[in-house]
Formats: sequence, structure tokens, C-alpha cells
Amino acid sequence: MNRYTVQRGDTVRRIAVKYGISPLALCNFNNGTLDLEYYVEPGRIICVPEQKNRLRHRKGVCLEEFNFADVQAYRDKWLSQGLIHCDTIGYSVMNQPIYAFTAGSGKKEVFYSGGWHANEWMTSKFLCEWLDHLAEASADEASLFGYDAAALLKEVTLYVVPMVNPDGIELVQQGNYPNHPFCEKIRYINRGGEMFDHWSANIRGVDLNHQWPAGWQKEADESPDRPWPRHYSGKAALTEPEALAVFNFTNRRRFDYVIAFHSQGQMIFWGYKGFEPPESKEMVHRLSRNSSYVPIHTADSDGGYKDWFIQNTGRPGFTVELGTGTNPLPLRGYSEIWANGVPLALEGLRL
Ligand SMILES: [Zn+2]
Repeated sequence: MNRYTVQRGDTVRRIAVKYGISPLALCNFNNGTLDLEYYVEPGRIICVPEQKNRLRHRKGVCLEEFNFADVQAYRDKWLSQGLIHCDTIGYSVMNQPIYAFTAGSGKKEVFYSGGWHANEWMTSKFLCEWLDHLAEASADEASLFGYDAAALLKEVTLYVVPMVNPDGIELVQQGNYPNHPFCEKIRYINRGGEMFDHWSANIRGVDLNHQWPAGWQKEADESPDRPWPRHYSGKAALTEPEALAVFNFTNRRRFDYVIAFHSQGQMIFWGYKGFEPPESKEMVHRLSRNSSYVPIHTADSDGGYKDWFIQNTGRPGFTVELGTGTNPLPLRGYSEIWANGVPLALEGLRL
């Protein structure tokens, strides 16, 4: 028998994968004190059975919960391969790095972002897996679902921030616990509720896609006026370090257009108050035909990243709502996200 000390970011499934056993076997071995549908807090010691035959089908990767440790693992892999460059563009409230990955060397600069909302980590998983496929296909000079990956990356310099909100994502997967640095605040914001599937804000209860100086006041006036699991705009625009990191990053570069990935809805928002340029309409049409997702001009909301980008630069910005169902989307929803999202993200490089 092994003893394992639970780490930050762990879930029952993630621990089971580490040891190559089934999550259910892990729960049973701990005499019912572990629950697949509940959280395991850091520092807790659990028992892991000796396992002669490790489960192979999961390839050592937890398929369900994707979090900061997974982004870190991709970062290590990509840096060792030398295919993708990485910058730290800022730090979360809890001091976790926010990474921007760069691939390609083209003149056109395109920016994809995901993991804005805590219960939407599927978008982070999608962006990392997609970028990994793209980089490998490019290195092998192979075709990726009909696209010439190497040729694409000669045309484009692609920037990807897969996880804007690592603290919030950790909360949704691991829950709150007495030693959590924001334990009392989280408890207050969540009104004592112990589950966090509905949480989309950052760890301080600010919605990172309500933080942007584009109709910020109007959105704030129509939203909760104090920290909340979602939709609180903050005391002012750009108070949160995660939003500020993306703001500074965007201002330092000159992106030709941006796509922010959220879930869910199978929709693509492409306008903001008529500030979008005429070509946005043709571009969204192409994204739509390559994903089956529905183009929608505006969501009648303000204060979002793409709203700010469009208003501030006059260049095209899109919000893609991947998948369908209730966040956090179950693993079964991922096949659809992959099948429709891959061609969308590839076509997105040559708009
Ligand atoms: Zn979202």
C-alpha cells in the first residue's frame, strides 16, 4: 500500500490516473471516505493500493479535469521540443503564472485565449491539445485535418493564452478548504455553499470577462454589485491581475484579430456596437461554415474582452462558445468540441 499526500489541484480522478488505477477502486480502498463527485483537499493523506497491472487506456493523463498542472506539463513538453515559445504575461491573484505560448513566424498576428471562466476549463484543454497537434504536424510537415500546418505557421504568428483564470479553475475542481488562502472570502461569496460547479469568477469573485473598459459601467450597473460567483464586474475595470495581464499583453502586440474561447452554446459572437470592421461578417461566416456554430452579432452585453478589443482597435474580435450543456461540461461533451473546434481554430488562422 502507498500513502499519498494530496497536492494542490488534485482530484480523485487525477490521483487515480497517477497510480494507474480506477477512480472507483481508489474510493473503495479508502473505505468510502473518498467520493468521486466530491473534492480532496491538499495535505490530506490517502491510501493507494499496490497495483500490479496499471490501467493503460488513460495514458497517464486525467481526461476529465484539466488544470494548471496540465498547462505546465504542456509547457515543459513544448519547451523541450523547441517548437513553441512561452512567455509569462502576468500572475493570478494566487500568484500562478499566466502563460502565453507562441507558434509560427508569419507576419499576421493572431491571438487565441481560453480558460477565462472557472467552470470552462474545457476551453483550456481544447486549446492546449489543439496547439500540440498543430505544432507536431508542423514539425513533421504533415497535413492536419486537410490543413498544411507548416504553411499555416509561416503565414501566422499565433499567440495562445490557454488559461487566464488558473485560481478559479482550481477552485471548481478542488473546492474550498480551511487552509485555502481565500477560504473565508470564498465561503462568504458562495453563501456557505460547498460546491463550485457554478463558479465562473476569479478567486476574488470578479468575472474576468466583465472587467473590460468597453461599456464597463453599464454592465456593472446591471450585474451584482459585490463579489459573486459570476458576473460581478469589480470595483472598476481591470482591477484583477489576470485581466490586466491580458490587457497589457494585447497592448504590447498588434494582433490582427482575436478569438476568445468560452463554453458553452455552439455560437460565435462577432460584433460590438458597430465598432467591428466590415470584414468581420465574412470572417465569422467562414468560422461558422468550418464549425457548424451559429454566428450571432452581439450578445447585448458589455465589458467583455472581445468588446474592448473591437472598440479599442477597430479590428475583428470573436467570442466562440464551444460545446453544449451545463458547465463544467462533462467529458462526453469533449468529442463535439474537438470535432467542431479543430477546424474552426485551423480556419481561424487563415481568415
Ligand atoms: Zn465564459
